[in-house]
Amino acid sequence: LIVPDWPSFKKTVGELFEKARPYKDGNLATYIPQLARTDPELWSVSICTVDGQRASWGDHNVPFCLQSVAKPFNYAAALNLLGVDYVHKYVGQEPSGRFFNEICLDADKKPHNPMVNAGAIVVTSLLNPKEGLSDRFDFILKTMRKFAGEQFVSFKNSVFLSERETADRNYAISYYMREHNCFPPNTNLVETLDLYFQSCSISVNTDSLAVMAATLANGGVCPLNNERVVSNRAVRDTLSLMLSCGMYDYSGQFAFKVGLPAKSGVSGDMMIVVPNCMGIAIYSPRLDQFGNTVRGVKFAEHLVESYNLHHYDSL
Ligand code: GLU
Repeated sequence: LIVPDWPSFKKTVGELFEKARPYKDGNLATYIPQLARTDPELWSVSICTVDGQRASWGDHNVPFCLQSVAKPFNYAAALNLLGVDYVHKYVGQEPSGRFFNEICLDADKKPHNPMVNAGAIVVTSLLNPKEGLSDRFDFILKTMRKFAGEQFVSFKNSVFLSERETADRNYAISYYMREHNCFPPNTNLVETLDLYFQSCSISVNTDSLAVMAATLANGGVCPLNNERVVSNRAVRDTLSLMLSCGMYDYSGQFAFKVGLPAKSGVSGDMMIVVPNCMGIAIYSPRLDQFGNTVRGVKFAEHLVESYNLHHYDSL
């Protein structure tokens, strides 16, 4: 097994979980009204290894919306469906160095990468554009469920409605991108945005999100049922961009300190992938100035102090 002494690993991680609990700084995201009503004290971590060993701490049954953590899964699904060359005709691979929802494009007039809103909206437009919105949503939901090995994956309509109602910025980004021909011909902008908001409003808990992350850690094969969800290559490309772009404008520092591909979202969720080893899911709604979960980042930093998980450890 990948973690030979599971009981002692669980004990240590449990201690790290308690060590991060006292970090109560940061604030809830308020720009989506439904997220502002979350209990800020919620705190949970779940782990799933590539062998399917699982453990969890805290509020691991509490559902939350994926928000930006949906981005790497939609990107992986697009790569798997369409191939890297096609997808990257429409989106770059470079950290933007700008806020996640900024209205800006790279020098080629493409969104910087699939982990910022502009890039994620374009990636959403590539997913089965000829089908109706209901089938397109079903495809995304089914893909998320496959990543999760059919563990808890649901949809929170109130977050979707609340987000759509307050989405001026995402509409503005999208019209700006349309002006610059960022979308494939015949893209329906309003439908694309609905689908993007809907994928942000898919809900999971840390138990199911850990399995989703473990599927990425396991090269695209879900460790619970050994089913392939996406290709190896799609996973490799997704993890590369999670490492360079997954943690908003803290991505460079996170790659330096923790050295693992990760993605966070404004609901306070976060996943970390330890390639060929395990997926880690974290949930704590208070966010730092970059938009990352405060406890989640602390937990990750403590974890690599306890275990040599940093990608460039003991080279
Ligand atoms: N749905 C959010 C938005 O588009 C996602 C933001 C995030 O989690 O970073 O604004």
